[in-house]
Amino acid sequence: MRQVIIRNSIRCRRCGDEIESRHRHDFKWCSCGSVAVDGGTAYLRRVGETGLIEDTSIVEGGLRSHFDEIAEQTRGRNQCRTISSASSSKRF
Ligand SMILES: [Zn+2]
Repeated sequence: MRQVIIRNSIRCRRCGDEIESRHRHDFKWCSCGSVAVDGGTAYLRRVGETGLIEDTSIVEGGLRSHFDEIAEQTRGRNQCRTISSASSSKRF
């Protein structure tokens, strides 16, 4: 399925920062360093804690495919982390 990326951006649920990658090598972290975005309009890359990413991208052809990519990498960890991060937001 073809994807046309119009806007590649995410919001961090921890610090509330919205970060946007404007071109292919525009790699940006949010101010608390939990999540990052990269790829610009070439590809949708997300780095960091999946559970903290709120996607604000605009993509023609569906936003789903890049979320799948993240979910595959962190699916197992993310499920058990969801509960623990609600009670204590401790980071090492
Ligand atoms: Zn943040």
